[in-house]
Amino acid sequence: MIDAIKPAADDATALLKAMGVKDALWQSGDRPVHSPIDGARIGGVPDATADEIAAAVAASERAFAVWRTVPAPRRGELVRLLGQVLRVHKEALGRLVTLDCGKPLSEGSGEVQEVIDICDFAVGLSRQLYGLTIASERPGHRMMETWHPLGPVAIITAFNFPVAVWAWNAALALVCGNPVIWKPSEKTPLTALAVQALFERALADFGDAPAGLSSVLIGDGDVGAALVAHPAIRLISATGSTRMGRIVNEQAAQRFARVLLELGGNNASIVSPSADVDLALRASAFGFMGTAGQRCTSLRRLFVHRSIHDDFLARMRAAAASIAIGDPRDPAMLVGPLIDAGAAAAMDQALADARAAGATISGGDRIAGLGDGVYVRPAVVSHLAHTGPVLRETFAPILYVFAYDDLDDAISLQNSVDQGLSSSIFTADMREAELFVSAAGSDCGIANINIGTSGAEIGGAFGGEKETGGGRESGSDSWRAYMRRQTNTVNYSGALPLAQGVKFEI
Ligand code: NAD
Repeated sequence: MIDAIKPAADDATALLKAMGVKDALWQSGDRPVHSPIDGARIGGVPDATADEIAAAVAASERAFAVWRTVPAPRRGELVRLLGQVLRVHKEALGRLVTLDCGKPLSEGSGEVQEVIDICDFAVGLSRQLYGLTIASERPGHRMMETWHPLGPVAIITAFNFPVAVWAWNAALALVCGNPVIWKPSEKTPLTALAVQALFERALADFGDAPAGLSSVLIGDGDVGAALVAHPAIRLISATGSTRMGRIVNEQAAQRFARVLLELGGNNASIVSPSADVDLALRASAFGFMGTAGQRCTSLRRLFVHRSIHDDFLARMRAAAASIAIGDPRDPAMLVGPLIDAGAAAAMDQALADARAAGATISGGDRIAGLGDGVYVRPAVVSHLAHTGPVLRETFAPILYVFAYDDLDDAISLQNSVDQGLSSSIFTADMREAELFVSAAGSDCGIANINIGTSGAEIGGAFGGEKETGGGRESGSDSWRAYMRRQTNTVNYSGALPLAQGVKFEI
């Protein structure tokens, strides 16, 4: 039984005030802000005008001229201070994330923890932006590779991670010497306004940072497109749908701007006969129902060995039928609302297509009594061919389950979609596990063993292949995307030998 919902707007005022967001920034604009929790209007934000976009980019260019010369470890100090401010406000910001995008409190708080973690990572990185020394073929010469700051970075983000994706980019970009301009999703502007206010506190603690190091431009795709087109923006890091990424990629290519694209996924897991079935079930249940199926890494397709398929399917249907769905501010709820009615319509369409193809479907129905929030029962779909709706990413809790006989066939089907973000295998068989992560295995950017597809750690490079866009963010050596590489050859001899032995005497 689900109780009526406490109005989301009541929470918003207190949270935004606590984090220092001025009322005018979110109460007086024309773009309505709705919380998916109850669908009610919380406030209104003003879209950035063309003049404001131009001013933000100009300020960013001026900031770059200063920031690029600040020693990287000192730049790291600003990010350390940001992490400190976020620690103080972790609970409030986590609640605001929940309010903005509807994910449960533990996930909202986990998202802020991820931001704190990437700040820590970036602080360490600020002392490790290593270049190379390269053997020169010429006597009395030294060759090296140096990494320099790139320039203003535009960060365009999706609704489902209202702050983590910004932080993956911003923390690294800032220690690498670049200012950032954030165009958050028009569906989750409040989190961005709060983060900017917290960033300004870190700036005040830091003392002498240039103005214009970070700004937020509210608006829809048009504001994003203006940044993509602006010649001063050197890197466009865009997270969202493949549709958006294709447009951004083509426009950026017109002026040879660098892009970092993190786009849609159509992720799969394989459950082999040797798997720990209880573990695989729990991981897959979180993978497909967690965040109401609205993660880029959400599990969408599951290949279960025929010998355990029927039992596994029955248990997954039971888990989906009984999962606690409701107000994400209630800690007992594991699944919150979809972001909006459009998401529910896309889910309905995918299920109608599956039904028309003769599939067996459980769940997928709407749950009433929760204000104007859109709450759905996660759907488990089976007994359909690997085609039609299975091939596209529907950003909702739908799991397509298939029986397989041969592992090579399962891997081949897993890889047969246009996207290549996350994948996993559940197995106790070492040969199966090694095959899965080998060159002949999964073609995704993320390939896990005995872990689900969703819930990445910040230490690894995050991103995917094919229509997922090819970008890598967060850990490992992803920082290189935010810097320009320079090759330096130094001649400390009195002679001038030319490379490759070329003669040119004058
Ligand atoms: P979306 O594509 O609708 O919007 C994403 C962002 O792009 C928004 O800020 C939007 O305003 C902006 N935008 C739209 N058109 C634009 C244009 N022409 N130029 C510049 N900016 C433009 O995506 P969404 O519905 O917010 O998010 C869901 C999608 O994001 C899913 O496909 C999901 O898989 C993907 N996603 C991917 C990752 C990843 O790391 N791979 C992470 C999170 C979400």
